Amino acid sequence: MSKSKVSLREVFKTIIWPRKKLLFVGLILIIISRAAGLVPPWATKPFMDDILVNKELDKLPLLLTFLTIAILIQAVTSFLLTKILSVEAQHLISVLRSKVQKHLLRLPIRFFDNQKSGALVSRVMNDVEGVRNLVGTGLVQLVGGTLTAIISVGFLIYINPLMTLFVLLPMSIFGVITMKAFSIIRPVFRERGKITADVTGRLTETLNGVRVIKGFNAEQQEIKVFEKGVDQLFQNVKKSLTSTSFVTSSGTFLVGLASVGIMGLSGYFNLSAGDFLQFTMFMVFMIAPIVQMSNIGSQLTEAFAGLDRTEELMNTPVEDDGTVRTIKIGEMKGNIEFKNVSFSYEEGKPVLKNITFSAPVGSVTALVGTSGSGKTTIAGLAASFLNPESGTITVDGIDMSKISLDSYRSQLGVVLQDDFLFEGTIRENILFPRPNSTEQELQKAVKAAFVNEFTDRFEKGLETVIGERGVKLSGGQRQRIAIARAILANPRILILDEATSNLDTESESYIQESLRTLMQGRTTFVIAHRLSTIRQANQILVIENGQIQEQGRHEDLISRQGRYYQLYTYQARI
Ligand code: ADP
Repeated sequence: MSKSKVSLREVFKTIIWPRKKLLFVGLILIIISRAAGLVPPWATKPFMDDILVNKELDKLPLLLTFLTIAILIQAVTSFLLTKILSVEAQHLISVLRSKVQKHLLRLPIRFFDNQKSGALVSRVMNDVEGVRNLVGTGLVQLVGGTLTAIISVGFLIYINPLMTLFVLLPMSIFGVITMKAFSIIRPVFRERGKITADVTGRLTETLNGVRVIKGFNAEQQEIKVFEKGVDQLFQNVKKSLTSTSFVTSSGTFLVGLASVGIMGLSGYFNLSAGDFLQFTMFMVFMIAPIVQMSNIGSQLTEAFAGLDRTEELMNTPVEDDGTVRTIKIGEMKGNIEFKNVSFSYEEGKPVLKNITFSAPVGSVTALVGTSGSGKTTIAGLAASFLNPESGTITVDGIDMSKISLDSYRSQLGVVLQDDFLFEGTIRENILFPRPNSTEQELQKAVKAAFVNEFTDRFEKGLETVIGERGVKLSGGQRQRIAIARAILANPRILILDEATSNLDTESESYIQESLRTLMQGRTTFVIAHRLSTIRQANQILVIENGQIQEQGRHEDLISRQGRYYQLYTYQARI
């Protein structure tokens, strides 16, 4: 993925501007809230000088009423701010998450080969969180804080310009320190998202591969890798903590210093008690937003870092953007032809070289050959998961690279070795490619794949929940569900990666039988491991080193006594 940087302009255009009305309301609310917040510091002077010192007690009720109203206004406005802005921010987060997930699913298979799924999860879930600070109270507080600070400075100058100067000096130093700190923190935040994604990714992998890890007694290794990851994360947080705490502490120190100076100066200028208190209060009201702004600054930095990473993902080209693949193929017959197809995953390392063959409507093409010879790659090309580097694949005579993926894949079915079943009922798992099928169609598929043979024994039948929190199925049972799913989907083209695992004879015969039903009348590509499937095939392609070494039916190839014969006789199974 290329490095992307989100510009302020872009964020303004896509995130802030469309919400201008809400943000404007938020700003008004902040101004009201901040104005009301200035009442208490202002009130200190009349309270001190008029009421406490001069004993003008008749002024007290009015002052108290005024104060109470101000406090009430503050409470109401801050409630409304949360209600309006924070809710909108959370809404935006959910919209963005959906958008990122949608884009992610449109990326080519090749993209996923090079990415950890856990890291992608973190992309979708965490990286967009940052916008909370842009649309939420963060940005509005930044504006509100600046306003309060400016108004407070006005008041301070009004009370005593010279003393104000004395306050502004340490605050400018603080400003410089803050700026410096942010330039240090920014890259740290950027890095953090990446580390989090890496660590999450590795953890997901560890959990998925727990059998292998335990099987090889490799827990220590995984523990070390994870420890290293979390330590990296810790070092990253530590770095930003040191900077932020330095900012906060220097802020506190400089404020303290200013207060000491003010105390001295107020003696020198002979301020009244009320003036002194009012001055101090306004000073706090000027400084508080500045300190707060430094916090908001770090939140905004985090938001931008997250958006940068999201943007990176969103800029990765999708597999079909509708510009090149313009042909919507209607109901197809399923005539597939490979013409001089070459393919490589990495430049300069060809995996398939000049593959030419045709798979006519309704035929079964069995791909056999040693592991790594290129069988899966051929199947991947036929499934439109990969695109030829040179040569063409045609579907009913039309160049596959021009066909809209939606229109092609809606007529494609795949049954893979370790087929994907998700947590849910057996019914949901079978229905998932065609959720609108009728009960009759479903039952037909269930029977054809002999799923009812085992679900009838379950108390809840097809409603039995499978997966982590449900019933554990055997390999053969899982395969039959996958086959039922494919039968129900009724595809024209079928990609089948036969499981290599040995099944008991009973399961084996059920599966053979259901595969026969499944393949009937469909153009099938099968990475074959079962002799029974291979014998049935209309053509066998023997693949070696990315080339078709032999081609023909079982009997022909046996009588030819070539590579296939070798594989067949010496290895007994292919
Ligand atoms: P088979 O299915 O016959 O075992 P494959 O088609 O899976 O063979 O692989 C053919 C060759 O391509 C192998 O050398 C393999 O290492 C390589 N290969 C497969 N997938 C990838 C990938 N995603 N990236 C890079 N190389 C790959």
